[in-house]
Amino acid sequence: MNFIETRGNDGQHPLKVSFSEAILSPMSSFGGIYSPESLPDLGSSFLADHLNSDYKGLARDILAAFAIDIEPAVIEEALALYDHFDDPKNPVPVVRVDDDLYVSELYHGPTRAFKDMALQPFGVVLSALAQQRNEEYLILAATSGDTGPAALETFKNRANVRVACLYPDGGTSDVQRLQMVTEDAANLKVIGIHGDFDDAQGALKQLLGSAVFKAKLKEKQIHLSAANSVNFGRIIFQTIYHIHSYLELVRQGAIALGEKVYLNVPSGNFGNALGGYYAMRMCLPVEKILIASNRNNILTQLIRDGRYDLRQLAVIPTTSPAMDILKSSNIERILFDLFGAARTRELMTQLDNEKHYELSAEELERLQAIFAADFCDDEEGKRYIREAFAKGYLMDPHTATCLKAHATCRSEPLKSIVYSTAEWTKFSPVIANALTGEVGASDSDALKAIAARAGIAIPAMIAGLFSKPITQGTIIDKAQIEQSILDFL
Ligand SMILES: *Cc1c(COP(=O)(O)O)cnc(C)c1O
Repeated sequence: MNFIETRGNDGQHPLKVSFSEAILSPMSSFGGIYSPESLPDLGSSFLADHLNSDYKGLARDILAAFAIDIEPAVIEEALALYDHFDDPKNPVPVVRVDDDLYVSELYHGPTRAFKDMALQPFGVVLSALAQQRNEEYLILAATSGDTGPAALETFKNRANVRVACLYPDGGTSDVQRLQMVTEDAANLKVIGIHGDFDDAQGALKQLLGSAVFKAKLKEKQIHLSAANSVNFGRIIFQTIYHIHSYLELVRQGAIALGEKVYLNVPSGNFGNALGGYYAMRMCLPVEKILIASNRNNILTQLIRDGRYDLRQLAVIPTTSPAMDILKSSNIERILFDLFGAARTRELMTQLDNEKHYELSAEELERLQAIFAADFCDDEEGKRYIREAFAKGYLMDPHTATCLKAHATCRSEPLKSIVYSTAEWTKFSPVIANALTGEVGASDSDALKAIAARAGIAIPAMIAGLFSKPITQGTIIDKAQIEQSILDFL
C-alpha cells in the first residue's frame, strides 16, 4: 500500500511513499500529511472469519490487508507487546455498563492511557526501520500528560532512537509527571518547562523550525521524526481495536453479527475517531461515530454547523486535559478522504492563514452521514462519573464526556461502544472530587480514597511511582531547551 499527500504534491516531494517512508518523515507537500491511497476492503466475511480470533490474530490480518512494507518478524515483535497488557489474551476488555452501553477499555497497557495501544507497537516498528537503515533518529515530543509517558516507555532502551520530551512543570498530574521523571534510560531526556502546555508545544515548533538546530543535528547525523498522532504508524494500530470491540459485542451476545452500532469516541487530535472511521470504511457496521468533546468544542461546531473557526477561541483548561485541543490534526485526513486533496489544501490553507473555514451544505451533509457530536462541561462530566459509579463502573473524566453524546446524539435504538481512554488512576483528584466533593486532594491521597471507596487495589505500576527515584530532574526556561537537548545528544 502507498501513501499520498492530503494537500496534493508540490513537485519537490515524491508522488507516493511507502508506509515506512510515511512514518519516518510524516510531513508532506504544502504542510500536509500522508494518507492511504486507498483503504483495504476487508470483505463481507472478514468479521465472521475472525469471531474466534484473539487480539493479535485479528491485528495480524488487518495489518496484512494494509500490505505495509514491514517485515513479518518486526510486526510479530511489535504485536508481542500486547502480551504485557493486564490480560495477555485480551488486551482490550469490553465491559457492559448498561443495556445499550458497552465500554471498550483502551488503558490496560504500561502507562494506563490509550496512547499505549498505538505507541507500544509503533516504538518497535520505528526502531527496527532505523536499525535497518543504519540511521539515528531523534523523536521530539511535547506532552500535556499522556503522550509523554507512553512515548518514553515505548522507546526506552530501543536502538537508534532517542527521545526528548517536553512537559509543562506543574501542568500535568503528579502521576503523569512521576511516570516521566522516573524513566531511567540513556536514550531518554525529559525536560520540564516553566510555562503551560502551549509554551512546551510552541518551544517544540520553534525548535523544529530552527536552522541552527537542524544544522547541529545534521552534523551529528541525527534525523528528526515525530511520534504524535499525525504519524500514520500510530493510526494503523488504532483501526484494530474498533474491529476487536465490535467482535467482543458479538461474542458477548450483545449484538448479532452485521448489526449496526454507535462508536462513541472522546476526541482531541481525532486519531482514535479516525481509526474508527477507517474501520467503518473497511468492514465495520457502524450507524454513526459520535464525537465527544469537553468545552474546547471545536469538533462539535464542525460536525454540527460545518464551521471550523478558531478566531474567537483560546484553549480552556478542563478536567479532561488530553482533549484540551483546538487544532485537531487528524480532521485533515477526513477532509482528504471525503473531499479530495485540492479541497483539503484550500480548506487547510484558509485555516492556517485566516484561522477559519466553512464547509458547503453538501459537504456538511456528507460529514453528518458519518459523524454526530456533542460536548460535555466539567460539572456534567462529574455527574456522569457519579452516575456510572452508582451502577458499579469507575470511569475517568475523558471517558465521561462520551455519556453526554450517548444521551443526545443517537436516533436509533442500537448499542453503543464507548471508548475509555484512561484508567481512573491517571486523573484521581477529579474523580475523588466527583465522588466525595473533596477538593484539592493530592494524587496519592485521591488514589487511596477511591481505592477504598470502590474496594479495588491501586495497580502496582502506579502505586510504585511514589517511591521510585527521580532520574530526570531538568526543569528550565524555554530559552534553554535547545542547548539542553544538544547537550543530551
Ligand atoms: C490522547 C487522549 C485523548 C484524545 O485522543 P485523540 O486520538 O487525540 O482524539 C482522549 N483521552 C485521553 C485520556 C487521551 O490521552
